[in-house]
Amino acid sequence: MNLADFYLDAGISREVYEYGESIESQLTDRFNAIDKLAELNQIKVIQAMRKNRVSYDCLNGTTGYGYGDVGRDTLEKVYADVFHGEDALVRPQITCGTHAIALALFSNLRPGDTFVSIAGKPYDTLDDVIGINPCKGSLAEYGVKYKQADLKDDSSFDYDAIRNVIDDTTKVVEIQRSKGYATRKSFSVDEIGEAIHFVKSIKPDVLVFIDNCYGEFVEDKEPLEVGADFMAGSLIKNPGGGLAPIGGYIVGKEECIENAANRLTSPGLGREVGASLEAMRSFYQGFFLAPTVTASAEKGAIFAAKIFEGLGYTCVPKADEDRHDIIQAVELVTPEALCAFCEGIQAASPIDSYVKPEPWDMPGYSDQVIMAAGTFVSGASIELSADGPLRDPYAAYFQGGLTYPHAKIGILMALQYLINAGETSLKK
Ligand SMILES: *Cc1c(COP(=O)(O)O)cnc(C)c1O
Repeated sequence: MNLADFYLDAGISREVYEYGESIESQLTDRFNAIDKLAELNQIKVIQAMRKNRVSYDCLNGTTGYGYGDVGRDTLEKVYADVFHGEDALVRPQITCGTHAIALALFSNLRPGDTFVSIAGKPYDTLDDVIGINPCKGSLAEYGVKYKQADLKDDSSFDYDAIRNVIDDTTKVVEIQRSKGYATRKSFSVDEIGEAIHFVKSIKPDVLVFIDNCYGEFVEDKEPLEVGADFMAGSLIKNPGGGLAPIGGYIVGKEECIENAANRLTSPGLGREVGASLEAMRSFYQGFFLAPTVTASAEKGAIFAAKIFEGLGYTCVPKADEDRHDIIQAVELVTPEALCAFCEGIQAASPIDSYVKPEPWDMPGYSDQVIMAAGTFVSGASIELSADGPLRDPYAAYFQGGLTYPHAKIGILMALQYLINAGETSLKK
């Protein structure tokens, strides 16, 4: 049997396979550049591990209070070095990305302060955190005000709007690097740097916070290198390398991290407690793998864009555009096509390949959401996954792929499902 036969055996037609081959052959230069970037980021990680003398003992966890947890404390130094922060918190007790962001905000804002987003409305789950939707325990309930500056139509920063929204009470300004569930562009680290420069020229003492979810290791530098004060992300996305089973991180200025540690545990206990349990081996090994895993996911995203653009679908970013995160939005136009796409991704998954994803009312989201994720770590979107809210333009947000071959197979399976559902065809 040759490769095409294996695909056929998996339910992917010869035409779809050949279309995939023709698309892939156009991506050689792009993929080579991504491999080089992975190499650069791999050196950063390995250097930080060498410098901080990561030892075999660091892989063993602690229990109970977790005092003197060498593995945890050393890993936090490794993260701080790789991301150019003064300090870091990297903990299994940070349950997800939303929690990491909420922790960063609650711990660095005080009653009477204003929190400002300058990249339009933040990620959906932050509506409840901020209190855009009334919610128990929100920042609004604690007397933290919220304002936002929307982006311009071409999804660039609106500097006039930013100037108008910042005032004496502005304490923290947020920039979300990745588009999340919006069909805007994601920001490059350089674009983020320009915006930070502008914000600080208006109010030098403002703290700039970056929602760094999905951005780690996609470029050769990270937001703290262009003036951000602190940033946060999820370990079941890029930096966990697919191995971390839980966790989040916050990296940045010493004071921001101290505030976060005191809020995560308790004032006075701060970073000294928080047993790492069994998580350390996966945190270290995942971080070590993260540059190449992120590169695989990025290749998958580019392959997906090229495949679906070739069939007339609008993709954000476009196949040939520069990338600043691992998310690929494919606007599928109809709810049926969005569901078929997700069913295809699910069918190509290592876990739960036989189940059919269905739209549901997911906590924290205002529209129904369909999700395909047959992952080793539940809900981990660094693994091959797709999701999308059931609202116009019915965009599937495709992301992840621990290996590029798996991402490719998943995308071709999604295409096959669209064809089988009569939603598209190769002969247009
Ligand atoms: C995923 C994500 C979040 C939230 O992370 P969860 O782990 O899903 O809570 C926040 N912001 C952005 C941009 C994200 O992509």
